[in-house]
Amino acid sequence: MVSKELLDILACPSCKGDLSYDAERDTLTCRAKHCPYCGMPVDEKGVCTDAECGKTTSAPVGLEYRVEEDIPIMLIDEAKKLPL
Ligand SMILES: [Zn+2]
Ligand SMILES: [Zn+2]
Repeated sequence: MVSKELLDILACPSCKGDLSYDAERDTLTCRAKHCPYCGMPVDEKGVCTDAECGKTTSAPVGLEYRVEEDIPIMLIDEAKKLPL
């Protein structure tokens, strides 16, 4: 379970977007568009904004962060990629 205070200050580490908390599954989800290869944000043309990656995608993904012992794991590498 993640406290309301913590939820208020947390943002997606990739795009700084808002996260929605699923109390039942104990996960935090960002539904903005991210690169399916590296997890960084993509622009409106589907091009990854990460200079090293730079791939183009037609299927951007959302990111789901898990919570372990009340601590959200806010790591892009650890996040689950969700189809949008
Ligand atoms: Zn995000
Ligand atoms: Zn990328």
